[in-house]
Amino acid sequence: MAKQKDMGNMDTFAGAFENGQYTLPNLPYGYDALEPMYDQQTLTLHHDKHHAGYVKGLNDALSRLDNARKAKDFATVKAASIDLAFNGSGHILHTLFWHSMKPGGNGGQMPVELKGAFEESFGSADSAQAHFAAATKAVEGSGWGVLAFEPVSQKVLVLQCEKHQNLTIWGVVPLLVCDVWEHAYYLKYQNNRAAWVDNFIKLADWDFAAQRLAAAKSCVTELRK
Ligand code: MN
Repeated sequence: MAKQKDMGNMDTFAGAFENGQYTLPNLPYGYDALEPMYDQQTLTLHHDKHHAGYVKGLNDALSRLDNARKAKDFATVKAASIDLAFNGSGHILHTLFWHSMKPGGNGGQMPVELKGAFEESFGSADSAQAHFAAATKAVEGSGWGVLAFEPVSQKVLVLQCEKHQNLTIWGVVPLLVCDVWEHAYYLKYQNNRAAWVDNFIKLADWDFAAQRLAAAKSCVTELRK
């Protein structure tokens, strides 16, 4: 039986950084746990190859920057900084992405705190989900749909992220993210990104989003100092 997520004492970033290096965290469920909506082959390649590639690229970029500092030669700083942003964003967003889904999703249940936040920010939970799906389907090229908490207005926003590192707002806290790079869905869904996004919504772990929203709200006073 697929491993179930234990929301009670979960550290989302457990295994994502160990002994001074970024590391590939284990999935919070089995490779086949999201079948049939997210197939085992795609999930295995996505985690074991693509996410692992970002981790390697992130450590490599930091190593190159470390070498540049030691040599006092920053000729490579631009290229290494681009690689740092690309791979660092990829590592963090993929780690959040695995937790953004769970077997069976939320089964149609929306946590009451998240429902209230959706009503305040989007009118209703249904319009929030429709907005999230539409924005994610319409991401130009490769990127992500991102549900995020924005600490200035203290509201929830839907963002489109192109690639990993563009079109963000600094300071937002991602609550739930959907990968719409082709590697995330092409084996099963081919060019039908919309079908993948619709099934992602069915797999969405709204409890995870609600937990992160509560945590983001609790630290907003510190963020605003
Ligand atoms: Mn991906």
